[in-house]
Amino acid sequence: MNMNERIRCTAIVLAAGQGKRMGTSVQKQYIELNGEPLICYPLRVFQQSALIDEIILVAGSGQVSYVRDEIVKKYDFSKVSAVTEGGKERYDSVRQGLKAMMQGRNFAEQTPGYVFIHDGARPFVDEEIIQRGYECVKRYHACVAGMPSKDTVKLANEEGFAVKTPERKYVWIVQTPQVFEASLIIEAYSRLEGQECINVTDDAMVVEKMMGAEVKLFEGSYENIKITTPEDLKIARAFLKKS
Ligand code: C5P
Repeated sequence: MNMNERIRCTAIVLAAGQGKRMGTSVQKQYIELNGEPLICYPLRVFQQSALIDEIILVAGSGQVSYVRDEIVKKYDFSKVSAVTEGGKERYDSVRQGLKAMMQGRNFAEQTPGYVFIHDGARPFVDEEIIQRGYECVKRYHACVAGMPSKDTVKLANEEGFAVKTPERKYVWIVQTPQVFEASLIIEAYSRLEGQECINVTDDAMVVEKMMGAEVKLFEGSYENIKITTPEDLKIARAFLKKS
């Protein structure tokens, strides 16, 4: 293969969470930010990215047709090739996204491809982050966006006492996109099937644990926040005002 050849890239955008910590009746991915549902922000970035070929959107249970009509069609996200239903945990939703990606495709006959797994609740991913992810996955096969922690981090025991203080220069706060060679992430998730998987909170963990693979960190941004609680929405609105 020509080293300069661009490799097929799929974005799996996760929007099947309940968003219980937000405490609103509307699920957080549909909360309006400047008149548009939150989920439109990351979708538009992947839609407009020069690197992304297709988007798989993972929606909540019973929401697939709503999302198809009210998000994908209405806002004309033409790169969305499938809207699929997620599962109970984040990793169930990722698995559903990977299945939808593989459907109807013969991977053996194709260039392997890269998969960008992204939390739909992170509206401020941007093209530069996607570019850095692409360069990083080309070199290291598995990588995740993150930023060095500004705060000191403590590990606590069950009783809430601090037991360890990792040296701050080695502490990163991990974000998405998490970017993998397709074959690696597909195999990692298939090995996870049927295992005890409580506490799987990101995809890097699955690749580390199931494949013993090293995962490289690349620079995300301090604005690439995940909207989880009401104060995150205030921060997001402040970011939008600024721009
Ligand atoms: O719960 P958390 O905020 O970590 O979720 C991160 C992302 O994963 C969100 O975009 C959420 O919609 C998605 N998710 C999902 N399916 C789940 C749980 C979370 O798609 N079962």
